[in-house]
Amino acid sequence: DLAEAPMALTPSDQGWDELLGTAPGPRMNATFVSLARNSDVWEIARSIRQVEDRFNRRYNYDWVFLNDKPFDATFKKVTSSLVSGKTHYGEIPHEHWSFPDHIDQDKARKVREDMAQRKIIYGDSISYRHMCRFESGFFFRQPLMLNYEWYWRVEPSIELFCDVHYDPFRFMAENKKKYSFVLSLYEYVETIPTLWDSVKKFMKNYPEHIVEGNSMGFLSDDGGENYNHCHFWSNFEVGNLEWLRSKAYVDFFESLDLDGGFFYERWGDAPVHSIAAGLLLKKEELHFFNDIAYYHVPFTHCPTGEKTRLDLRCHCNPKDNFDWKGYSCTSRFFDVNGYEKPEGYENQQD
Ligand code: GDP
Ligand code: MN
Repeated sequence: DLAEAPMALTPSDQGWDELLGTAPGPRMNATFVSLARNSDVWEIARSIRQVEDRFNRRYNYDWVFLNDKPFDATFKKVTSSLVSGKTHYGEIPHEHWSFPDHIDQDKARKVREDMAQRKIIYGDSISYRHMCRFESGFFFRQPLMLNYEWYWRVEPSIELFCDVHYDPFRFMAENKKKYSFVLSLYEYVETIPTLWDSVKKFMKNYPEHIVEGNSMGFLSDDGGENYNHCHFWSNFEVGNLEWLRSKAYVDFFESLDLDGGFFYERWGDAPVHSIAAGLLLKKEELHFFNDIAYYHVPFTHCPTGEKTRLDLRCHCNPKDNFDWKGYSCTSRFFDVNGYEKPEGYENQQD
């Protein structure tokens, strides 16, 4: 009798998790991490859904959310329903999201007014500067992050275009990688006019932190005199938290922070992380994930190589791939490391 067994006519959700399958093998001590505002909830939801569908539904890694204000109930409800691992919500302490005492407020305000007039992107924003300083120097030291060794940064409104058929955290660990990227490009020089002066000062004061066999050739075309503005785009990162918590990295951040460029200019966390990765790590410790297909407005990384795209069920248009175009620094990364460029790169140069 149908009336007595209505549930039999609707698809049962029993067994759905088994159908999806859980990837075998060990898990690393790793987490996703997203800095977000409550108002970002639907944009971060889209990102999470894609990361889960393409990767994490089979791996169930945790997700840490960080905010300078308390997360509201909607944000927690929506995000925790999407993440297959455990979710954690942290509020950033005031000291990590405010002007340090040594900053001259008048000078910082004049810079913002001037940058607003010159129409420099986020040039007039205080919160954007706190965000860049936080991502440069503090996210890896939040209490919730201290529990983990590896992180994967996810921003609102990103896209993943291909399946991730292995564990990138495990790949990093097994191949002794510390920092990774999918997109690289030249930074707007207006936002970092004196960053390299500050870096040179650090190199002079802390020669013990500059490793041999680093990636200076990625950052500079003249052996370190000038910065060529190349950086890895930090809205995607898979990296090692112990490295960021090391004395070398913390000395680097604190030295830059004292020079004040997060407020007297508009230093981004991308060039800060990239220069650190370029100088404080051996070049073999950096990794380019060709097979993680990614979009963050306005750039796409779509894997070079048709076989990769078909095997990983990618849905990006290879013509959109930014890697080999003139404004990307990725071919420079390949040259510095002596890597052969993937097959088909010539067809994606314009
Ligand atoms: P863009 O990618 O450089 O254009 O900058 P976004 O607006 O994407 O900001 C970078 C990251 O910081 C994203 O994860 C944002 O959600 C986050 N973010 C930016 N501003 C704030 C803020 O004022 N508060 C919080 N909690 N997160 C922020
Ligand atoms: Mn963003």
